[in-house]
Amino acid sequence: ILDSITDGFFAVDSDWRFTYMNAAGERSIDCTPGYLIGKCFWDEYPGTVGSEFERFYRRVAASRDSESLTAHYPDNDRWYEITAYPAPNGLSVYFRDVTHRRQVEQERQQFAALVEASPDFIGVAGLDQRGVYVNRAGMALSGLEPDQLASISVLDFFPESERDRILGFITESEGGKDVVVDTWFQHLQTGQLIPVSWSFLRLRDASGIVSGYATVTRDLTERKQHEKSTQQTLASIVERCPFGIYIVDDEFRIASMNEGSQLGAFANVRPIIGRSFDEAVRMMWPEPVASDVIQIFRHTLTTGEPYLSRNFSHARADVDQTEAYEWELHRIDMPNGRDGVVCYYFDSTWLREAERKLWEADRKKDEFLAILAHELRNPLAPIRNGLQLMKLARDNPEVVEKVRSMMERQVAHMVRLIDDLLDLSRISQGNLELKQEQLELAMVIRNAVETSQPLIEQMGHALELVMPSGPAYLRGDVTRLAQIISNLLNNSAKYTERGGRIRLSAEQLGGDIVITVEDNGMGIPVHMLSKIFEMFTQVDRSLEQSTGGLGIGLSLVQRLVELHGGSVQAFSEGQGRGSTFVVRLPTAMSVAEIRQDNIEPESGRSTPRLRILVVDDNRDAAIGLAELLSILGNETQTAHDGLEALEVAQAFRPDVTLLDIGMPKLNGFETCRRIRQQAWGESMVLYALTGWGQEEDQQRSLAAGFNAHLVKPVVLADLEALLAQVIAVRA
Ligand code: ADP
Repeated sequence: ILDSITDGFFAVDSDWRFTYMNAAGERSIDCTPGYLIGKCFWDEYPGTVGSEFERFYRRVAASRDSESLTAHYPDNDRWYEITAYPAPNGLSVYFRDVTHRRQVEQERQQFAALVEASPDFIGVAGLDQRGVYVNRAGMALSGLEPDQLASISVLDFFPESERDRILGFITESEGGKDVVVDTWFQHLQTGQLIPVSWSFLRLRDASGIVSGYATVTRDLTERKQHEKSTQQTLASIVERCPFGIYIVDDEFRIASMNEGSQLGAFANVRPIIGRSFDEAVRMMWPEPVASDVIQIFRHTLTTGEPYLSRNFSHARADVDQTEAYEWELHRIDMPNGRDGVVCYYFDSTWLREAERKLWEADRKKDEFLAILAHELRNPLAPIRNGLQLMKLARDNPEVVEKVRSMMERQVAHMVRLIDDLLDLSRISQGNLELKQEQLELAMVIRNAVETSQPLIEQMGHALELVMPSGPAYLRGDVTRLAQIISNLLNNSAKYTERGGRIRLSAEQLGGDIVITVEDNGMGIPVHMLSKIFEMFTQVDRSLEQSTGGLGIGLSLVQRLVELHGGSVQAFSEGQGRGSTFVVRLPTAMSVAEIRQDNIEPESGRSTPRLRILVVDDNRDAAIGLAELLSILGNETQTAHDGLEALEVAQAFRPDVTLLDIGMPKLNGFETCRRIRQQAWGESMVLYALTGWGQEEDQQRSLAAGFNAHLVKPVVLADLEALLAQVIAVRA
């Protein structure tokens, strides 16, 4: 019997000598049959000496009861379960190699620890779907109490509404597949719904028969929250993006639309969401554009082919304007599982317009260069001929004089062209400085007429002049103002058939000086009226029709007028109906008016009106100006550098100080700053006196504490006007 059992068995006598070892025992310890008989246990297995094996064997041998031990035998690194029976003449031992069983047990323990430690709900149920095991996370997630485990069914974890669906998975999965679904758990204690991902798998025994079920449930609360906030972020990005985005569904209705679209292209379509797309498109675009757009959307919806439009530019049907868009279409899956078309678009109207303007400017520039070359060469031919002639007729003073005056005219013409060009480029670069002064209108008009007279006479025109009844004043640069008027007069002369009529009138209308230049010449087509002020624009650009202009005269006029704070407009009833140009400029109060308003004319002269300090490192300039001011009835003193100015000012306590800026020792800005720091200097009137009239210099003066900034050479009338104001304020 002992030889036939699968476990090992041996017996030793009271001297620990083997008396028996069964076959399974010999196999298990790898020993030749019969070899051990008569040998001493401790000699054969010295590894046991001093170990728990020896203590165990000796204890049992000395006692009367059998005893069991499971222990590790280091010599062959195996585990044994041993039962020893004491016998009167020794010890019988029954042993079994349990190494494998222990490994399995250990693995099972590790596995159980893993399952317990899992953050997911892991549960096992029997074939009746009733609970067998639920890990710690499962208990926490579901609120399950340990004593409920035996009676709980898999379905109990789900809210009523989910149970049929879940049962379907369970029963179908009997022969079918394991499932992973997103669903809801209902907390057993609080009833709170928890979003979860739930997997269900069948457990099979060794023969493949389903023996129970396992479920793994993951709490998705955090993920859902994250998804929600991500979705919210995405939604607000889409809403606020500067492009239009909208979706058309498979029933061809507008399903959704971002803010950009609602405020942009679709601004006039109300309501939008749910509206038929065909209808919306037809409201916005005329035929055949609307039908084309609808057709393109349908094509993408049915075929899934994306569409890209880069050059869409059409007149709108609902508003009077042309709009340009870049747009693209893609077919997308809608949340209901059906198809839709998303359209992304970008309003490129302004870009196209800018492009058109650039192109136009470029074209004009090319044309201009051709005309420029032509216009510059025109006078050159007669000049060259003139030189030849002068050589040939050098002895004939009459001819030479004629030729000389012809050449003079031609050169003057060229100089005019070039001056115009330079002026325009100065204005464009902001480098044109106006010499502002108080002017009488009549004087400006006289200057202009003088300049244009030769051309008007040459063309045989009659010029009518209508001047305002009384004196009128304006502030500005006399040369530039005359240039404005003579440019207009020249144009009238040029664009009127010989023997025409030109009328120049000037009047004061409220706060404006209105200057009108009118002719009965060829007129201007109405559509060109606003364009002729653009640079290089001419109504007729053919070279044969050339009148010796470059198409910059009017743009120069407009810019000069604007620099003077005014405006210019052209009027014409069309070709052959004459033209009228109207310039409006702000008036300036006349010095006389200011005087009358503020000063008692004669009596003021007897007592000094103001104490004035003139500071300039150019002695002659300082003394000259001071003298002039004293003739006008003021008490004056001079100083020639900043430090001296401070000293004199402290003693003299002037009402007004005129301070040159560029001075040795202390410049005008610094001198002004120091005067202002004194108690007596706080309310003093300080004028800066400089050769620089740039806006920037004026700003600097004001920042330093000056009351005003005068550009040298000072126009006495301007200075008088300022001083009159000072007196008026003091009075
Ligand atoms: P330019 O005279 O050198 O061509 P301007 O800028 O002075 O350039 O004028 C632009 C265009 O406006 C002219 O080419 C002409 O076609 C038109 N124009 C200007 N003044 C008159 C006018 N008085 N009558 C008719 N057309 C005019």
